[in-house]
Amino acid sequence: MRRSCLDRRRPVGRLLSAGHKVALSEQPPSPGGDRPLQRLTPGTSVDAAVLAPGRTNNLAVAFTAGETVGFAWLDVSTGEGGTAMASVEGCGPALAQIAPTEVLVARWPETSDALAVALRSGGTRFGKLDRPELVGAAADGVLAAAYGPGAPDALRGFSPPELSALAALLDYVRATAGRLPEALPPPRRAAINDTMEIDAPTLRGLEVLASGASVEGTLLSVLDRTVTPAGARLLARQLAAPLTKPDTIRRRLAMVRFMVNNPPVRAGCREELSGLPDVLRAYGRLSLGKAGPRDLAAIRDGLERAQAVAAHLATGENLPVGLATAARELRVSDDGGKGALAGTLRRALVPSPPATIGEGGFVVEEYHVELDAERMEAAAAKEAIGKLQDRYVQQTGIKSLRIKTNTLIGYHVEVPAAAAKGLADGFTLRQGLASSARYTTTELDRLAAEQVGAAERVAAIEERVFRELVSAALAQRMAVTRIAHAAAALDLVCGLGQAAAEGLWVEPELADDTLLEIEGGRHPVAEQLLEAEGRSFVPNDCRIGSDDRLWLLTGPNMAGKSTFLRQVALVVLMAQVGSFVPATRARVGVVDKLFSRIGASDDLVAGRSTFMVEMLETAAILKQATARSLVILDEVGRGTSTHDGLAIAQASMEYLHDEVGCRTLFATHFHELADAAEAMPWAVCMAMDASPGRHDEMFAFKVRAGRAGQSYGLRVATHAGMPATVLRRAAELLGQVTGTKDHEEGTSG
Ligand code: ADP
Ligand code: MG
Repeated sequence: MRRSCLDRRRPVGRLLSAGHKVALSEQPPSPGGDRPLQRLTPGTSVDAAVLAPGRTNNLAVAFTAGETVGFAWLDVSTGEGGTAMASVEGCGPALAQIAPTEVLVARWPETSDALAVALRSGGTRFGKLDRPELVGAAADGVLAAAYGPGAPDALRGFSPPELSALAALLDYVRATAGRLPEALPPPRRAAINDTMEIDAPTLRGLEVLASGASVEGTLLSVLDRTVTPAGARLLARQLAAPLTKPDTIRRRLAMVRFMVNNPPVRAGCREELSGLPDVLRAYGRLSLGKAGPRDLAAIRDGLERAQAVAAHLATGENLPVGLATAARELRVSDDGGKGALAGTLRRALVPSPPATIGEGGFVVEEYHVELDAERMEAAAAKEAIGKLQDRYVQQTGIKSLRIKTNTLIGYHVEVPAAAAKGLADGFTLRQGLASSARYTTTELDRLAAEQVGAAERVAAIEERVFRELVSAALAQRMAVTRIAHAAAALDLVCGLGQAAAEGLWVEPELADDTLLEIEGGRHPVAEQLLEAEGRSFVPNDCRIGSDDRLWLLTGPNMAGKSTFLRQVALVVLMAQVGSFVPATRARVGVVDKLFSRIGASDDLVAGRSTFMVEMLETAAILKQATARSLVILDEVGRGTSTHDGLAIAQASMEYLHDEVGCRTLFATHFHELADAAEAMPWAVCMAMDASPGRHDEMFAFKVRAGRAGQSYGLRVATHAGMPATVLRRAAELLGQVTGTKDHEEGTSG
């Protein structure tokens, strides 16, 4: 039975990972048939075999109300959830921050184009919410059922669309999982203004969390030195929603700085943290009745580890406020609650209990008097059965006589078929096989009944103990969740400290204005890749946002334009996450929204032309960017004929410069754009140095003031090994086109 469950899980996991919904039913259905059919969807799974440890598994509901959309989300596997309001235009960034595995759209007919585009371009799995809509009292009812009598307090200040979204979400979970999660911590209301908006195309283009289908080569992979799954999940969430308040960022930076400057404290904390079980996921299973003794042990060990981490952290001298608070939050005080729970679990559970209660034996001896008595009785009966076997062997003279048990006929005496006739009267045949025969005796039946009865009572008591422990653990869910969050936050800070130390990064300075200055900036991912090849990355400066707020960057292909643009965006993003940055100095006037668009042809979204995608995405920037935003446009306009592309690129550039006034980096191979930029008061022409690099490189990868002359296609073609005849002919043609002009003219100014 147990085994068949496990076997069944594997194909289910595969189906869920592929995004399918699965319904499990028994064949034939169990008598009574009133058990709810178990339905599983990717967004409601709590199964460790299905979930990626370091990935949040949010299920989200979008509830449209006029010009706004209420979002609610919940990671059932950890109990962490939240709500947010977004304008129809702000749906993209909101969804990118929530990063749901699955989105259910309520009020499907009213879905705005903006939401539909955001859902598609985010690449999120989404569907229609086909359950009745919950508003007003119906919504309150579900919320009260989920959050208990404290619901009105916990949900004060949430807007009606958020509450409706939340109610719909919980209602859906109840329908699919067959019940509401127990002891659910109240959701957090996310204030969109407290975080930097980054939409899905920007996250993708900058390869923040994913590079194609993999995490290799992403900012996340370079930054992630966390040692716990909860820490890794927190980091990924932070990268999709960096901070915008300089004070908040500085508080985190102070903690990271402490960890950079105190390697022993950092190493010790990471060491202690690395043994920390995923307490939040254990609670996720507990809350849906899918937990086993091992989940309780995870909570026990988690509380113990948290103590050890707190103790280690407290050895640090002059802890910044944030870390001192963390040390306090991690301490499992003895005042009732958590302390009592830790004590109970320690006393009740064996060190390494099995995954399921059916496997038994997880309750420590001397924890439960009755259990001990029944266990002794079961053991005594078993021993008596052993003695009975010895006696039968002597009585019958059959040396190979054995007393065995199986699920079909229970305890029985087994002898080889040939020896069967030697048995006395008291043996009743139960089963005759080709090579052996199986018998029962009244004595054996009596002992077997004793043994089985006692074993059943043991199992029943163990199950009762398990339920009691589960209730005790659930009663402390909020308190333990707070500890787990403190541990994850500490893991995040230690990890950022570790990454900063390894990467020789510097602490950025944050400001409330719009000036962005980076000296000696590097691209954190490209730098690592180059270093792995024994080459070094060429650092560059950037200064925009005061008098000059738009840089138009021209230069040869392959000279490093895209890399430079992205590194500026990544340095800003890292700084606002509270990380050190790959530069010699950085000063970041906080960015409210970060946009990056790459006018490339490799970003094919099904059903739309690349040019359409490019235009949709550029339109979104032009409409949403503010004077505090940072916009990175890389070769926008490339997706169409030169003429259109150039015109659209120039018009977009002018709009950002004149109307929006945001910080803009604009890379282009249209040299003509430099003429336009030169006429704009706050725009500066910059160019990639066209001279060859120090080693065998084609280019020096240096950003300088001025404009590029040519695209240096011939040099790239030569490097690529084009046949000499072709190169000669191309040079000849180029001469015809550009007259006598030197096509290898460098940057000027
Ligand atoms: P462009 O956008 O101008 O065509 P890229 O930014 O794509 O150029 O850079 C092309 C290649 O040059 C990169 O893949 C990288 O290997 C190398 N490169 C770019 N910038 C640097 C740099 N600052 N230092 C070292 N190598 C670089
Ligand atoms: Mg490029």
